[in-house]
Amino acid sequence: MTSKPILYIVIPCYNEEKVLPETEPLFLQTLRGMISEGKIAEESRVMFVNDGSKDATWELISKFAEEEEQIEGLCLSRNRGHQNALFAGLMTAKQYADITISIDCDGQDDMTAMTRMVDEYLGGSQIVYGVRSERKTDTVFKRATAQGFYKIMAAMGADVVYNHADYRLMSKEALEGLAQFKEVNLFLRGMAPLVGFRYSCVYYERAERIAGESHYPLKKMLSFAFDGITSFSVKPISMITSMGFIVCVISLIAIVATIIEKICGMTVGGWSSLLCCILFLGGVQLLSLGVIGEYIGKIYMETKERPRFIISESTGDITPAKDRR
Ligand code: UDP
Ligand code: MG
Repeated sequence: MTSKPILYIVIPCYNEEKVLPETEPLFLQTLRGMISEGKIAEESRVMFVNDGSKDATWELISKFAEEEEQIEGLCLSRNRGHQNALFAGLMTAKQYADITISIDCDGQDDMTAMTRMVDEYLGGSQIVYGVRSERKTDTVFKRATAQGFYKIMAAMGADVVYNHADYRLMSKEALEGLAQFKEVNLFLRGMAPLVGFRYSCVYYERAERIAGESHYPLKKMLSFAFDGITSFSVKPISMITSMGFIVCVISLIAIVATIIEKICGMTVGGWSSLLCCILFLGGVQLLSLGVIGEYIGKIYMETKERPRFIISESTGDITPAKDRR
């Protein structure tokens, strides 16, 4: 490569006034370090995306952008969730950058891994996944649920990189590919592998949040996992079909047994088995309807073709991206 790539570090922030003052200098320092090492171009930037925060996050970002030339900000018109905020940032950064790195703003992901990611890009990878090599700082519960999630995703046939969250380098080419995905249910870590291109992984250790609290309590984590599975795989539907088939076979055997009992004159009792059957079948049907409903809900959302993000403000020379739909 002849000229140095322009890097945009894209950071979604939601109610992060406690963390930002601590991590902003670290991001800036990391960016400047890479510029002075001659790895990336002078025009590289740190871009904070405010995801409709209710606290002073946007005021902080605007202040940083005023003080530092290398910081830019983007403000969504309301809270749309991590994935949408990140997507808005990436689509905007794509207009200016050769490469982007997405990272959370809480300092949990090791920033020194960015240099290694850029090295991998210079070595020819279009997507570089940041992969947690350890989960020492997570609670046992978070670790177990997270690892279970990756295993289930893999079993369901969704191609996700094990232990990779959204700490990822993507080149302009890869982002152009991502832009062509029209789905509303964004699950970026599952979409990146579908974009294709040459990829590699960079390993790092995940630290604890520097300040503030996680926005992913158990309930949100579970719904994120469920969204991930139902956005990427139709296996649950085929599982229900096989389950229905097995239940049919079992009930057929039961019917034959009942007829034999009747013929032999042993018709007393049977009440409990009947009740069991009714309850069981009712349960199976409800479960099936629930899962099918989940997919219909998704189809419903997709047909609305709502924009995935709307940007209300931006700093400096940044022209916000529009969601092409
Ligand atoms: N975030 C966001 N919108 C939301 C929730 C979270 O932009 O609705 C951002 C948040 O500011 C952080 C990142 O997403 O930069 C990851 O969130 P968090 O650290 O709370 O999740 P955890 O690391 O605990 O999974
Ligand atoms: Mg975090």
